[in-house]
Amino acid sequence: MKRQILNGTIGLAFLASFSLAFAGCETDLNKMDQAQSLEMSAALAASDMGGVNATDLCNCLLANFPAETLSAEETEALLFMREEEKLARDIYLGMYELWKVRIFDNISKAEQRHMDAIGCLIQKYELSDPVGENGIGVFQNADLQALYDNLLAQGSVSLQAAYTAGATIEDVDIRDLLGMADNPAVDNQDVVAVFGELTKASSNHMRAFTSRLESLGLTYVPQYITPEYYESIVTTDWEKGGSICGPCPGQGLGNGNGQGNGGNCPYGNNGSGGNGSGHGGDCPYGNTGNGGNGGNGGNGGGNGGGGNGG
Ligand code: ZN
Ligand code: ZN
Repeated sequence: MKRQILNGTIGLAFLASFSLAFAGCETDLNKMDQAQSLEMSAALAASDMGGVNATDLCNCLLANFPAETLSAEETEALLFMREEEKLARDIYLGMYELWKVRIFDNISKAEQRHMDAIGCLIQKYELSDPVGENGIGVFQNADLQALYDNLLAQGSVSLQAAYTAGATIEDVDIRDLLGMADNPAVDNQDVVAVFGELTKASSNHMRAFTSRLESLGLTYVPQYITPEYYESIVTTDWEKGGSICGPCPGQGLGNGNGQGNGGNCPYGNNGSGGNGSGHGGDCPYGNTGNGGNGGNGGNGGGNGGGGNGG
């Protein structure tokens, strides 16, 4: 049950191609590797539940996964990861403000969605949110506060140090997520699915920072995950994610109103066709379902068929 493999969707491929279009507006700072940056933007978009708002995400996590009892370990993991994703978001926001390099902007948005995803689970299980109204750079967990302070200072020194700070965040993030995945007490389906998505995204972020460092002739040395595991990430392809809710089930609801005229008379007019309107299934991560088919024409007696949802 661990490690649900989740399929990407066509919708995300679209999002990826939008990023490709926008990535053409890079500033002078990172013209050096346009091609690399295009590839990166595409992969980042594909791996970060792109374009999904927090409400849809929460609805999906409520509707598509059972509410199972939370273990103490799961509670702890959710509260901790909520702030760890905030740490990532806050550092990348700061680095973007400082260095104006797009990668930080892109990834900070991804981290916002990761925070949101965990926020949904915190809501679902009625835990008290450690983030609350805390502003940028403020953390309840003292270790995360210290890590934030260190990384902010480190990343403010130079652009290359900022990339290294980024890789370090992903290093910590992957180590923590893998540790939780290995804990048998962390097994609720929704928690496993969210952590699985976050791990894929973090691996992509790690690939992105590593390639930025490589383009400057630098090598990142992992401090939290093993060198072997790090190699296994950076020598493999971008991972697609973005469909926590799975393929769109297409639960369309069709309303067909058929009114038949003609009644029982064998020679009477046939009933008029019903009007069908269907709503496509709402798929927070996938394509919106197609609208329902129109209702079937009423038979003499006036039976209008319901539309079929897409
Ligand atoms: Zn993240
Ligand atoms: Zn990340």
